Amino acid sequence: MSPDLVALSQSLMPIIPRPEIVFTRGEGAYLFDDQGKRYLDWIQGWAVNCLGHSPAVITKALTEQSNLLINPSPAFFNEPSLKLASLLTQHSCFDHVFFASSGAEANEGAIKLARKWGQLHKGGAFEIITFTDGFHGRTLATMSASGKAGWDTIFAPQVPGFPKAKLNNLASVSQLINPNTVAIMLEPIQGEAGVIPADLAFMKGLRALCDEHKLLLIADEVQTGCGRTGSLFAYELYGIEPDIMTLGKGIGGGVPLAALLAKRACSCFVPGDQGGTYCGNPLMCAVGFAVLQSLLAEGFLSSSRRVGLQLMDGLKALSRELGLGEVRGHGLLLALELGCDVAPQVVTAAREAGLLLNAPRAHCLRFMPALNSTEDEIRQGLALLRDVLKPLVH
Ligand SMILES: *Cc1c(COP(=O)(O)O)cnc(C)c1O
Repeated sequence: MSPDLVALSQSLMPIIPRPEIVFTRGEGAYLFDDQGKRYLDWIQGWAVNCLGHSPAVITKALTEQSNLLINPSPAFFNEPSLKLASLLTQHSCFDHVFFASSGAEANEGAIKLARKWGQLHKGGAFEIITFTDGFHGRTLATMSASGKAGWDTIFAPQVPGFPKAKLNNLASVSQLINPNTVAIMLEPIQGEAGVIPADLAFMKGLRALCDEHKLLLIADEVQTGCGRTGSLFAYELYGIEPDIMTLGKGIGGGVPLAALLAKRACSCFVPGDQGGTYCGNPLMCAVGFAVLQSLLAEGFLSSSRRVGLQLMDGLKALSRELGLGEVRGHGLLLALELGCDVAPQVVTAAREAGLLLNAPRAHCLRFMPALNSTEDEIRQGLALLRDVLKPLVH
């Protein structure tokens, strides 16, 4: 990074420690910095760029739509939002869609929708049971819904009404159910916690608890949705249907787009309840439509599942060879337990070696390559990872 850019960086709020690199170009699986160095990117914007960097379908959608119409205002219909909403409802169990710009905003909408439904159908019930180590975003309500250590006090007081249960512990959920409970909200796979999947019996148990106590099941699929886990949505892996689902990250393939989806029976917003300046803007929705069409194209998801298995097998082999821990996750959302707290050092060494990795916890690595990664790219990444891990885990 050149000294003048380092000087410019002083003008940004320091929200996260960043390495002294400026990325100037992305192409498929690769990022390039201002010195021309190439990196294989297994972060992909944090599981956002499902089709890799600057795929032709996205640049084409942006170019064509920006020449036609960027923003008529959310008070008017536009074609891309109608087409994307209809494609989403055709390929999911939901009937209605609201578009937002970020995962947190979609989750805020889900929380509001559940509370509104509680007012209409459950005597004002408003509590939403969420989970320790869960992550739902960085607005005040979604931070309160999250179960990240320390987030209960950092911007106190919290938004009330989010009692915490433990993932994969059904008793901890049923204990919290009371007449004020309106919903249960979870990530099918806790991403930021280190890729911790809800197990099958637990998810089915939650659905049964919701049916028994007349509660809404809210799936936060901001990270797990849009093909990330090998099926279009992670709830399909469990053979259950949530009442409400949120999408973000992958649905925009890199542009700010998110969605709140609901079944008709709980889709109770009336005009005035929900909105936003950018909700359903045609530029982002045109991209979302192009992304979703790509994910739905014949053979796309099956080929993504295949490279997901290749990566999982490769990580398992590495773990055996180097005496590391568990490999877990689904599709191309995977984690490797290192067995000791060296993940930050691994991330730094990997970046120097030209591989971008993420460490959600000090003891584990998370892998989020593009869903259209090739076998060759996966092989390349595994070889780089092995070279980097070997000296650091012994
Ligand atoms: C990233 C994420 C969010 C927040 O999305 P933003 O677009 O950053 O607001 C919410 N829930 C889950 C599960 C996420 O992974």
